Amino acid sequence: MKTDMFWWPKIDLHHHLEGSIRTKTYIELMKERGLDKKIRIPMDDEKWLERLLIVGPHDEGDFHWCLSKFHWLRFAVADKEAISRLVFEAIEDSAADNVKYLELRISPGPLLEKGISEADIISGIEEGWALGEKKTGIRVGIIAGITREQPIEYAERVVDLAIKGMDKGIRGIDLLSDESYPPELFKDVYLRAERAGLFRTVHAGEYGGTKNVITAVEELHANRLGHGTNIYRDDPIAGMRAVLDHDVHIECNLSTNVAVGNIRNVSEHPIKRMMSDGISVNINTDDPVQSNVVLSREYTYARDEIGITEEQLKAMTLRTLDHIFRPELKEELRKVFVFD
Ligand SMILES: [Zn+2]
Repeated sequence: MKTDMFWWPKIDLHHHLEGSIRTKTYIELMKERGLDKKIRIPMDDEKWLERLLIVGPHDEGDFHWCLSKFHWLRFAVADKEAISRLVFEAIEDSAADNVKYLELRISPGPLLEKGISEADIISGIEEGWALGEKKTGIRVGIIAGITREQPIEYAERVVDLAIKGMDKGIRGIDLLSDESYPPELFKDVYLRAERAGLFRTVHAGEYGGTKNVITAVEELHANRLGHGTNIYRDDPIAGMRAVLDHDVHIECNLSTNVAVGNIRNVSEHPIKRMMSDGISVNINTDDPVQSNVVLSREYTYARDEIGITEEQLKAMTLRTLDHIFRPELKEELRKVFVFD
């Protein structure tokens, strides 16, 4: 169902490719490659597959169970063609919700681990990205995510890949997944990425607390933070100061924070407090297909359940343009993000 916010031009900065896989595409990719037989997943019962792949009420806010879905989803990200198709379809789905600027993040580490070459990952991304921009007319940047649970060697390889892909759509890196692997473990790779000219975001304060937020900002030199939901949990003043002093933007996600049990309902999200503290924030999808999130619906939640006014939402969007990882598009995008 389309909400009135459908018509607004929107920005989505926090959007995982692995959380954007259409079930029909999953079935096709698996069958075409005979992978359904290899890992023995029944592909003919779409409803059953959706329970396996899409977060629903049956998952009861269980973080690890939600993460397990990505284990199954990654089988379909099997080669260059699959990567290209998935990147293209994620862009197409965003454009269909009137997103005008998208940053799509992909996790190359597990793909490298299963033997897909760096060159194939980069060209799969580039093909899907270029076709997506061309066919939809929206602007897109790609972020390469480091999976915390993998050995540090993979973090190095993801940064290498991101550097090589800088003129092929990749503009930044991310640190994702289980925050019990704290950000300081990745300080050296982040500083190397910074020296190479890559922008940096970090999932921080999603499951971890204020300390991870401060470390990501002060030691990893993050330009943005993913989630930041727990920024006020342990030391509210220090968390807020770190973010404000370094002009760091927070990529908020409302529904997925509820889905994984981080907050009980969207009205508990601290986004309004962040805004009144002067922090630059915006609202994103996170895992649109896998968590059943539509950005225009998230905007209506922000307005109707959190009480952020439409004027504040418009100002939030314009301020977010100062924090995109393709800053050369800022002036072009200012002409797109006109609300009156
Ligand atoms: Zn995320």
